[in-house]
Amino acid sequence: MSTSASKITVATTWLDGCSGCHMSFLDMDERLIELANQIDILYSPLVDTKELPESVDLGILEGSVSNDEDFAKAKAFRQHCKLLISLGDCAVNGNVPAMRNAFNLDDVIERAYRDTVDINPQIPVEGVPRLRRVVLPLHEVVEVDLFIPGCPPPANAIHYVLTELIAGRTPDPNQLTRFGA
Ligand code: SF4
Repeated sequence: MSTSASKITVATTWLDGCSGCHMSFLDMDERLIELANQIDILYSPLVDTKELPESVDLGILEGSVSNDEDFAKAKAFRQHCKLLISLGDCAVNGNVPAMRNAFNLDDVIERAYRDTVDINPQIPVEGVPRLRRVVLPLHEVVEVDLFIPGCPPPANAIHYVLTELIAGRTPDPNQLTRFGA
C-alpha cells in the first residue's frame, strides 16, 4: 500500500452482519484521532457520504453475502478498492448468517414471516433485496486480500492491521485475533 504523504483513502460497509465489527472499529477510541491524520474515510456507515468513490485505497467489508444487495456491494467494493479486507467471522466464513444454509430457504422464510408471527403475517416482497439461496463468505464472491477473523475482531487487531498497512508492511493479524474471539 502507498505510504505517500497523502492520506490513505478508506471505504467500509456492512453486508449481512450485525454491525458489531464496525462497533469494534469505533472501539479503537482515542487511536481514531491519531488514525484520522493518516487515513481518510470516504465512504462508510460511519460517515455521511452515500456514494462509493471511483477509486479507494482500502475497502473493508463486514458481513456475509446473503442477498442480491450484498452481492452488488461486494462486487462494487472489489471493483473500486485497491485492497480489500474481509472483516469479522461473518465475512470470513459466513458465521451466524450462514446457519440458515442447513435449511431450505423457503422454509426459513415461512418460519420467519408466517409461522412465528401472530398479527398479519406476510412475506415482504417490496423494498427488500432478494435473499440468495446460499449464504457465502466474502471470498467466495470476490477476491479478498486480507482476512481479520473474530466475532467481532478486537479493536487492537483492526488498529494493528491499519497501522501496518499505513507503514507499508503486510500485516498478519492472526496473533491478535481468532475465530469467535
Ligand atoms: S462477525 Fe460477529 S460482530 Fe461481526 S457482523 Fe458477524 S456477528 Fe456481528
